[in-house]
Amino acid sequence: MVDGKPAPGKPAPGNAAPASKAKTGAYTPAGVSPNRRARRSYTIRLWSVRHSRLLEWVYARFANAFLVFHPLWKKIGYARVERPITFVERNVKGLLFDCRMCGQCVLSSTGMSCPMNCPKQLRNGPCGGVRANGHCEVEPDMPCVWVQAWAGSRNMAHGDAILTVQKPVNQSLRETSSWLRVTAEAAATRETPAPETKP
Ligand code: SF4
Repeated sequence: MVDGKPAPGKPAPGNAAPASKAKTGAYTPAGVSPNRRARRSYTIRLWSVRHSRLLEWVYARFANAFLVFHPLWKKIGYARVERPITFVERNVKGLLFDCRMCGQCVLSSTGMSCPMNCPKQLRNGPCGGVRANGHCEVEPDMPCVWVQAWAGSRNMAHGDAILTVQKPVNQSLRETSSWLRVTAEAAATRETPAPETKP
């Protein structure tokens, strides 16, 4: 490899030579480093997809536990706990899912495969460029997150949620805690009185 270019006669491996790729003006998604991607493997992310059913179960219990603490979050103030909870969420989900902190988590609908790792950030299924080996067309060394999402969803009790059409990403929610938002919404729903039925 010379100056980020493959040796003559040798194909460029995977996402190689990101710097020279960037010089050509090639698409580089915000917040996603091709350098970092080229260096790391996807072991933990793929483990999470393989264990999507277990994680679905854990997540459901975790969400319930978080909801139990709603009075505490409310007393301290959701705005005040946002920062420490976001810190924990970023690190836990970063480790398990390569979370990009979009702030509107859809993991339970995507087989525990984070769609924000798609270089095109597609939230409703793969593009038309998935390679024959199930890898991404933009980053050939990375398994397509949507191929993984479908595989993960097939293991889950509520895996058909993958068929639900997701809204576009609300960029104003980036770097905020999905955990707190889901909890606040669930608490609000629980506290809203049911509409009276007419006799
Ligand atoms: S969907 Fe959003 S919040 Fe969930 S893991 Fe991916 S980037 Fe993180």
